[in-house]
Amino acid sequence: MDILNLPHFSILGFSENEHDFQIQVGTISPPSHCPHCGSLPNLYKHSNREQLVMDLPIHGKRVGLLLNRRRYKCRECGQTFWERIDHTVDDKRSCTRRLIEYIEKQSLKRTFAGISEDVGMDEKTIRNIFRDYINCLERTVQFETPNWLGIDEIQIIKPRCVVTNIEERTLINLLPNRNKEL
Ligand SMILES: [Zn+2]
Repeated sequence: MDILNLPHFSILGFSENEHDFQIQVGTISPPSHCPHCGSLPNLYKHSNREQLVMDLPIHGKRVGLLLNRRRYKCRECGQTFWERIDHTVDDKRSCTRRLIEYIEKQSLKRTFAGISEDVGMDEKTIRNIFRDYINCLERTVQFETPNWLGIDEIQIIKPRCVVTNIEERTLINLLPNRNKEL
């Protein structure tokens, strides 16, 4: 049974206590080529290390993935490299990319301390993820500034003010009434 639903990893072992799941995982497929010289697999396993990566909570418990990460050596150029996991893991934050997305959404409506408790990452990291997310939103969300702003009145139950972009023929806002202070 694959409770993780992470396509590049398989589960090697599993343990839990009152608050945490710890799941040992390994990558499914070896690297397809050497990142240094580009040669097709002429690689062998050189060493490995365990790396803790936090993931989405399961059944209200924090989840830590104990990743068995392998280092390979290339027979062609003699160089070594760690297998790449950046499709799934954010190395800088030591957590899965889907956990970052979860924290981003949660950080708009909950306290950093509460999220920190839930996911098992420190509050400072939660705050940094939130700050990066807000900066990204500010860069990508564009507010419309029409060349011609239309201000008109429309009767929907009572007279209401409509604000439109005349060139694009789009509605920008429909105000609850026609009072000027709105
Ligand atoms: Zn190589």
